[in-house]
Amino acid sequence: MTDLPIAKRPEVSSHFDESSFAPGQIIRKGMGHKEEIQSDFQQDYHSDIINKVIANDYVLTEQGYTFHLATDFGFCYGVDRSLELAHETLKHFPDKRIFLTTEIIHNPYANKNLEAKGIQFLSGPYQKDLGIDDVTAEDVVILPAFGTDVGMLETLRNKGCIMVDTICGSVLNVWKRVESYAREGFTSIIHGKHYHEESVATSSRVLQYKGGKYLVVLNMKEAEYVADYIVKGGDKAEFLTKFAEACSPEFDPDRDLQKIGLANQTTMLSSESLAIADFFKDTMIEKYGADNTHNHFRNFDTICSATEDRQQAILKLKGQPLDMMIVMGGYNSSNTNHLCKIAGEFVTTYHIESADGLLSPQQIQHKPYGQWETIITESWLPKTPCNIGITSGASTPNYVLGRAIERILSFKN
Ligand code: SF4
Repeated sequence: MTDLPIAKRPEVSSHFDESSFAPGQIIRKGMGHKEEIQSDFQQDYHSDIINKVIANDYVLTEQGYTFHLATDFGFCYGVDRSLELAHETLKHFPDKRIFLTTEIIHNPYANKNLEAKGIQFLSGPYQKDLGIDDVTAEDVVILPAFGTDVGMLETLRNKGCIMVDTICGSVLNVWKRVESYAREGFTSIIHGKHYHEESVATSSRVLQYKGGKYLVVLNMKEAEYVADYIVKGGDKAEFLTKFAEACSPEFDPDRDLQKIGLANQTTMLSSESLAIADFFKDTMIEKYGADNTHNHFRNFDTICSATEDRQQAILKLKGQPLDMMIVMGGYNSSNTNHLCKIAGEFVTTYHIESADGLLSPQQIQHKPYGQWETIITESWLPKTPCNIGITSGASTPNYVLGRAIERILSFKN
């Protein structure tokens, strides 16, 4: 297990000669092909109709439909960079096998696009015949935007392959926090989904340090349960059963909740992350007194601004006379699901992955918030004139969003 935090790993910058890449080195910057990939990038991910909506102050009226686009939507800086690096990797290493440890981002279109260009997946839904055991020093492995756990990183380093690190800086920021908590003997309480790749990676950073502990809480309800245990104690066996999948090995709630530091999965509901952090601060004040808070509680703002901006932009659409809202993004995309939650609180909202979900003017196949499976809803599209709110998660290409608008307009024809 490495004791070398990711921020201090050896870095290779803009060397354009493949022979300059030493085994096990990590490329974290462009490889000099930014210009060359632009036309592919535009073609694969951009959309003329979305550009038209933006140019028209985020509103487009055609054939009786008025589309209101959220002012922050779609690709964030982290996803943009991650995909650019993946495309540069394809250009730079045309004769090598190129792998991704898992999905590069949570969007089926983007993953299938990279797969079609020859990138293979070592795990996750797009994995085919090959896995981590098949990687050799001759290969190139791309690390996705939301990170990779320490164990995988160590395995790849031992293989001696070239790695292209596309991990987002906002995720690295969270890692720095939990690593500092672990060094200081604080347990990291991570607001997130314990099974999400980013939270798995973040948790693994903690375990690099002797005695490092973590606990992942999904929402305020779980935070309240933990806070109750901190203040009043409780049934340890029940606690450990409840968080069996979400805490570090040999976690002891009586011992490991005395000093806590807050962190979050970057794509969670930002208002909930902030509320949970405040709530735990109050809990530690109640337990140990205001004068002792510093000895028992740590918190730093690790909310990703892109996630927060997209959530705020949905709230701004509240002022529009919307008949319904379409939120586009991968069904496993955490940030997209949270956009659905926010929108669903004030307007009928449909979460679809692609325009294929718009089956006909009568039927839509979509995933309701909080469910895993899609359903088909009848009579979803109101008669014209109608106002439709639209937005997309941080991993959704504009191309995908634009196709949905075009499909709705095609129903009219
Ligand atoms: S959502 Fe935030 S943390 Fe995730 S890739 Fe985008 S900018 Fe980075």
